[in-house]
Amino acid sequence: MKLDRLNEQIKNCRKCRLWQGAKNAVPGEGPVYAKLMLVGQNPGAEEDKTGRPFVGRAGKFLNKVLAKNGINREELFVTNMVKHVTPKNRKPLPDEIAACAPYLEAHIKTIKPKIVVLMGTVAWQAPRVEGVEYVETYHPSAAMRFTKIRKKFEEDFRVLKERL
Ligand code: URA
Repeated sequence: MKLDRLNEQIKNCRKCRLWQGAKNAVPGEGPVYAKLMLVGQNPGAEEDKTGRPFVGRAGKFLNKVLAKNGINREELFVTNMVKHVTPKNRKPLPDEIAACAPYLEAHIKTIKPKIVVLMGTVAWQAPRVEGVEYVETYHPSAAMRFTKIRKKFEEDFRVLKERL
């Protein structure tokens, strides 16, 4: 499916309850030729306001880690397991994850990245597409808060850069 069409479908999605509390859907952003895809949990307040993924505190931290490792965010596709903000930023529920998973699968099949990086335990549940490699790491919010997790998170991106 064409990327624009897929993102348009996501913007109009009513498959679970979450759209009701959202200002904007956050389909994800990045070029269709991206070799690397990053997947987070769900948009937060800033992302809901702007319709863009990882633009809040966790996003700024993620940008720093990417820059530090010479990875250009503009060349990545960045998205989330769930495309609408959740009430009080709670974890998405299993039925919300299930409703949204086909969009992620469609993004992966459209973009065909070399590697998909799943950030955090919710993202670890992402649908797997054959021929694509998956790397599980921590969520940037956790990496931001805990030194040990931050070290591992940064190391994961250092290794990723070498493999691109
Ligand atoms: N946290 C996420 O998981 N995704 C975002 O887009 C922002 C914060």
